[in-house]
Amino acid sequence: MARLAQTAGLTDVQQEILSTVRDFVDKEIIPVATELEHRDEYPQAIVDGLKELGLFGLMIPEEYGGLGESLLTYALCVEEIARGWMSVSGIINTHFIVAYMLKQHGTQEQKDHFLPRMAAGDIRGAFSMSEPALGSDVSAITSKAVKDGEEYVLTGQKMWLTNGGTSSLVAVLVRSDEGHPEGTAPHKSMTTFLVEKEPGFGEVRPGLTIPGKIDKMGYKGVDTTELIMDGLRIPAERVLGGVTGRGFYQMMDGVEVGRVNVAARGCGVAQRAFELGVRYAQQRHTFGKPIAQHQAIQFKLAEMATKVEAAHAMMVNAARKKDSGERNDLEAGMAKYLASEYCKEVVEDAFRIHGGYGFSKEYEIERLYREAPMLLIGEGTAEIQKMIIGRRLLEEYRFQG
Ligand SMILES: Cc1cc2nc3c(=O)[nH]c(=O)nc-3n(C[C@H](O)[C@H](O)[C@H](O)COP(=O)(O)OP(=O)(O)OC[C@H]3O[C@@H](n4cnc5c(N)ncnc54)[C@H](O)[C@@H]3O)c2cc1C
Repeated sequence: MARLAQTAGLTDVQQEILSTVRDFVDKEIIPVATELEHRDEYPQAIVDGLKELGLFGLMIPEEYGGLGESLLTYALCVEEIARGWMSVSGIINTHFIVAYMLKQHGTQEQKDHFLPRMAAGDIRGAFSMSEPALGSDVSAITSKAVKDGEEYVLTGQKMWLTNGGTSSLVAVLVRSDEGHPEGTAPHKSMTTFLVEKEPGFGEVRPGLTIPGKIDKMGYKGVDTTELIMDGLRIPAERVLGGVTGRGFYQMMDGVEVGRVNVAARGCGVAQRAFELGVRYAQQRHTFGKPIAQHQAIQFKLAEMATKVEAAHAMMVNAARKKDSGERNDLEAGMAKYLASEYCKEVVEDAFRIHGGYGFSKEYEIERLYREAPMLLIGEGTAEIQKMIIGRRLLEEYRFQG
C-alpha cells in the first residue's frame, strides 16, 4: 500500500530493513497465513526465514551479535509482519521482551550467557506474569520462590504463556519473600527468574511442566500454554539482575515496550483489513455499480483509512519517545489503547464491506476478525491502559490551587 502509514525521517538502514521485511511478508507470509492458521500449524518455515533475516536479534546490541536497532525499527517491522499474520509477530514479541529485559536489567554474566544465542534465534524467549486467577492485577501473584542454599525452589501455576511450548527461556515473575518481611508492598517482593527449559510439552525440566496448547478462537499457530512449577529448582545466579525484589519493575519495563509492540500489531492488522476492504469494494457490484461508488461504503473506507493513519502516528510517537530515553508510559498506553480499538473497528468495517463472503473461511478477513480481539486484552486491557493514562495525566496536570 503506497500512501497510508508512512513514517517520515527514517534512515537508509531503517528503510532497507523495512523493505526487506515487507518483501518477505508479501512473498512468504501472506500467501500461506490463512491456511496455516486454519490448521493451527506452527509456521516453522516462516520462523526460519525470520531467523535468517536476523529479526530475533533486531534490538539486541551489536556486541552480542544483534543488529542494535531502535524500538522504532522494531515496531515498524512488527507492523509489517502483523499485516501478513499477527501470530508471527506474537512469536517474536515475547522473545523481544525477554531480550530487552536482559539488556536493561541482566547481570553481565546473564547478558553474555543468553543474548548472543537469543540474537541468533537459537534461544527463544517467553515471559510469564499471568496466573489462572489474575492477569490485570499483577500484584496478586501467588507463585512463590523459597530460598534453599544457593538455589530457589519455585512452586505455582502460570497461565497464558505465549510461546510457552516453543521457547527455551522463560522469564517468570513470582513472589519471593526472602529478604522481604511479611507486609512488604507486593511490588517490592517479586522477583523475575530466568528459567531455562527444553522446548516442547510435558515435563520439560524436573519440576516444570508445560501442558498442551490452549485452544484459542484466533491467534493460532503460535502456542499459548500454562506453566506448572512444582519444586522447580533454579540457581540464585538466574535471578534477573542478581537481586531479588526487583521483578515487578523489570516486568513493567518489559511490558511498556511490549505495549508499543502490540500497538504496532494493531496498526498492521488494521492496514491489512483496509487493503482487503478497499480492494473488495471496487470488485463487488450492487445496484449497477461497484459498492465503492456508494457513498456509505466510501465513508467507511474514509473512516478506516483515517484510523489507520492515526494509530500509526501514535505508535511511532510512542516508540520514538522511548528511543529518546524518555519515559513513555503515557504515550505507549495511549498508542496501545487507540491502535487496538481502531484495529477492531477497521476489521469490522472491512468485514461488513465483504457482505456474506466475510463470513466464509475462504476470505482472509474472517481470520483478521478472529485475531483483532486478542489485541484488546494482551499487554493490558483497555481499562488498564486507561488507568495508566489517567494516573499519568493527573501527575502531569496536578492542580496547584
Ligand atoms: C492469547 C493470549 C496470550 C497471552 N500471553 C501472555 C503472556 O505471554 N504472558 C503473560 O504473562 N500473560 C499473557 N496473557 C494474559 C493477558 O496479559 C491477560 O489476559 C490480561 O492481562 C487480562 O487479564 P485477565 O485475563 O486475568 O483478565 P482480568 O484481569 O480478570 O480482567 C477481566 C476484566 O475486568 C477488567 N478489569 C480488571 N481490573 C479492573 C479495574 N481495576 N478497573 C476496571 N476494569 C478492570 C479488565 O479490563 C477485563 O475487562 C495472554 C492472554 C491471551 C488471551
